[in-house]
Amino acid sequence: MLKIYHGSCHCGAVRFEADIDLAAGTGKCNCSICTKRRAWGALLKPDQFRLLSGADNLSDYQFGTKSGHHRFCKTCGVASFGDGHVEAIGGDYVSVNVNCLDDVSDQELAETPVKFGNGRDNAWWEPPAVTSYL
Ligand SMILES: [Zn+2]
Repeated sequence: MLKIYHGSCHCGAVRFEADIDLAAGTGKCNCSICTKRRAWGALLKPDQFRLLSGADNLSDYQFGTKSGHHRFCKTCGVASFGDGHVEAIGGDYVSVNVNCLDDVSDQELAETPVKFGNGRDNAWWEPPAVTSYL
């Protein structure tokens, strides 16, 4: 069920709201940037995401194919969301960092299914051999 959640970076400059169905699942991945950021994402369509403040306080980091904007707050460095375009996942997307939701309950986080992706080997659709550390 879609529910409106509010999220922010650590210092609060970047704030957003998003329509997320946590029961539909979230994702963790072992690719180079997800590993270093310990990213835990909910994949959304752009119309499910509304940036409420902080657009001018965001930095954008891109690498590789530059299909994703790995945005982060210029003040506190926290990456609360990113966006981009990848045909394999349906085109335009926004990935919200579940760890940055301010009004999600521990119970909701405990119950959301986590799909693991083997991004390190460019196989996002299948889990890596080891997932316990992600
Ligand atoms: Zn911040």
